[in-house]
Amino acid sequence: MAILITGGAGYIGSHTVRHFQQQGESVVVYDHLGQGHKDAVSTDVPFYAGDLHDQAMLRSVFGAHDITAVIHFAAHSLVGESVTGPLRYYENNLAGTMKLLEVMLEFDVKQIVFSSTAAVYGEPQRIPIKEDSPTNPTNPYGETKLAMERLLHWSEQAYGIHYVALRYFNAAGADPDGEIGEDHTPESHLIPIVLQTALGQRSHVAIFGDDYDTQDGTCVRDYIHVMDLAHAHYLALKKLETTAKSAVYNLGNGTGFSVKEVIDMCKQVTERTIQVEQTARRAGDPAVLIASSAKATEELGWIPQYPDLKTIVQHAWQWHVHHPTGYQKGKDTL
Ligand code: UDP
Repeated sequence: MAILITGGAGYIGSHTVRHFQQQGESVVVYDHLGQGHKDAVSTDVPFYAGDLHDQAMLRSVFGAHDITAVIHFAAHSLVGESVTGPLRYYENNLAGTMKLLEVMLEFDVKQIVFSSTAAVYGEPQRIPIKEDSPTNPTNPYGETKLAMERLLHWSEQAYGIHYVALRYFNAAGADPDGEIGEDHTPESHLIPIVLQTALGQRSHVAIFGDDYDTQDGTCVRDYIHVMDLAHAHYLALKKLETTAKSAVYNLGNGTGFSVKEVIDMCKQVTERTIQVEQTARRAGDPAVLIASSAKATEELGWIPQYPDLKTIVQHAWQWHVHHPTGYQKGKDTL
């Protein structure tokens, strides 16, 4: 018996694989390595480099490993490219999930933990954001994630598939062991960009807009440690196994930090010079996104272990210093 983790070679996926292993669970990874890295997954985990659309390969994996549940990360996740290429996003994210669900049903697997996003809310009406806030995505990425959640909802009604959808706020940090971390190409997320600047790999950090209605004019986000996200997946699966009750949860720390505050924290942790440049707003960025995770705490017993921004940045920095080229080339080259 094993748990299938799609997208298990990606940033959040690989940390979840590691966490499940640490909890003594048997896991199998299925990832087409579009964004993920095979080296992010321990060699003792069965690994299949496959696409969700390849149902023959999915069937062979379900058959070979007696899969009992699925943790589903595999998806495209860049807002900008979703705006310019919505067809690709619907094809991979929504159609891919449909293919996966079909194979799950063939093998009578009826539990799935799904990687969703705060992007389903769009521009929030109230802060902190609760799960019953209106969903109004402002880009195809958020729209496909919401469509996937709705597909799961209707699949529960029709086929008895139970799901937990986890809406992440800003995933950040790295495994405290320093073995795995964040490595996107291209990188678009604030903390890795600031740390790459600290390493001298970029000339400066562009601050996207300083005229937002926030205390220092820059956008405020809720940064959550990737290992805390990983643990939430474990708790969600346990809850599904014991209650067979579907649910949606926000995952964040409930505290917001502005772009400038994040850069200041990175300066403090790295003790390096970080040049910044003020630039125009990035399209589609809400001013403030802060989660209420009260429901996850109450129902899953989820309490973040690394809630403070300094720890999150320290763990990310440790990864970047020891893996300045990510998974690409040799380790410990700095
Ligand atoms: N941001 C920025 N410069 C960058 C990257 C990001 O000012 O080079 C800002 C971005 O506008 C947002 C925040 O940092 O307000 C977090 O962005 P990120 O892409 O990390 O996550 P998002 O909130 O978009 O999911």
